[in-house]
Amino acid sequence: MNHIEELIRNNLKDCRIDLIGFADRERFEGVDPQHNPFSIFPEAKTVILLGKRICRGALRGVEEGTNFGDYALFGKNWLEDEFLSIACYDLVNVLEDNGWEACPIFPNPSELGPQGVSVADGRPAPNVYPDFDYAAVACGLGEIGRNGLLLTPEFGSRQRFHMILTDAEIEPSPLFEGHICDACGMCAQSCPLGAIDMKHTVEVTICGKTMQVADINYDVCKTCKNGACANRFAETARPDRIAALCNRTCICHLEDNGLVSNKFENSFRQREAWSVGNTKPVSERNVEAANVLGGSFSKDGNRGNR
Ligand code: SF4
Ligand code: SF4
Repeated sequence: MNHIEELIRNNLKDCRIDLIGFADRERFEGVDPQHNPFSIFPEAKTVILLGKRICRGALRGVEEGTNFGDYALFGKNWLEDEFLSIACYDLVNVLEDNGWEACPIFPNPSELGPQGVSVADGRPAPNVYPDFDYAAVACGLGEIGRNGLLLTPEFGSRQRFHMILTDAEIEPSPLFEGHICDACGMCAQSCPLGAIDMKHTVEVTICGKTMQVADINYDVCKTCKNGACANRFAETARPDRIAALCNRTCICHLEDNGLVSNKFENSFRQREAWSVGNTKPVSERNVEAANVLGGSFSKDGNRGNR
């Protein structure tokens, strides 16, 4: 660990950062300039990705179907706009107090097209929005699961990230070698609208790490009333699926099977999950999933090993 990384790590607690990873320019070689963070700061040497957990309780009201607004604040808007922004800005100041330029980057949806015109030949049109899922894998923080969401070994899909580009040179974090997603298929089977097709997967390779992602019909997800939220920046961008039934089921599965390290005294799912758009209860769909996938599921919608 060089002294800059040590400096950053010593400030993680003060900045209230739960997750951090580093990647160098080499890990972004071949990335389209329109989405490459080094297009924003060409002299940068390091991409830093910092994350804060979405507390499990922020999902409680959605899981019970009785309060959606507080997830939108504590799990989404305030987390990105306030808590993470402050953490990111505090870390930026730590770096700049030590003589390194540090450029904070907000997680705008990378699938949005440019909003302006190129200012000079050879420069991508503004705004360049990096792909944060790519960056998280490149920074060694986790993998993309079958459900198309970034999973970390600490929190599964329960986190959000901000990015810092700096001209400080920091050794890249090792890529995450293990697996969090075990291809259980529970996300697909719990989806009332059949938007996840586990039989057709797309191979995604980032920095040599290959992941299988199910074919997901995001147009269907945009109509989902099971906890999915429209993308707040653009209707055309992918919806926020972290609180959706598919992903809440994944959260239960990862926790109940010891696949994430943030553990709780009580299971997240305490009763039959509600769903809209399918007449079959989730538990029946899960039993069908067990038959298809050769596993066993408990009635509460989790894989039964406890
Ligand atoms: S529910 Fe299972 S298959 Fe789907 S993302 Fe989670 S671990 Fe992977
Ligand atoms: S967001 Fe809704 S429609 Fe999309 S996969 Fe999840 S549960 Fe299904």
